[in-house]
Amino acid sequence: MPHFDLFFKTEELRRRLEPHLRLIPPFFEFTVRTGTPEVRYFDQKDPMWKGFPFPVPDRTVYVFDDAIPARALGGGMQNRASIRVTREDRDDEALILRIWHEILHAVGQPADDMAKRAGEWQNMSERVMWAAWQSLSRPVDVPFWHRKFYEWLTERAAAGAGGR
Ligand SMILES: [Zn+2]
Repeated sequence: MPHFDLFFKTEELRRRLEPHLRLIPPFFEFTVRTGTPEVRYFDQKDPMWKGFPFPVPDRTVYVFDDAIPARALGGGMQNRASIRVTREDRDDEALILRIWHEILHAVGQPADDMAKRAGEWQNMSERVMWAAWQSLSRPVDVPFWHRKFYEWLTERAAAGAGGR
């Protein structure tokens, strides 16, 4: 089972989000800490990642609240993930889904492929609902679908299926 040191930058972030961590299936285990791990920065010329801190130590997740010029809200790879909480983020559950998303990337799961892999993870009734949803032009990039997709990816990770 993947075990991560999960750092919340501030006590305030920790108080706010730690109680909701149980949304993430117990396959992922966390040791919760307050503070900042050792971080590094990606290419400072890339506007997607400018100023975005990323953990150096293996199996580390960092949740931070800085206003930074980067466009990215999160990144995850090679057993590491970083998640930004912006001032506009009001929905704690959506933030936990953002953390879950990046952790799935961190363990090599294709967390961005919800629509592309719809045929793989949806059951019959979800398929019908998904089609209706789209015919009404409702955006599918919402917590309702994210949660179902991430649950499937987590089971996939637990079954040992890696790759992208
Ligand atoms: Zn992603």
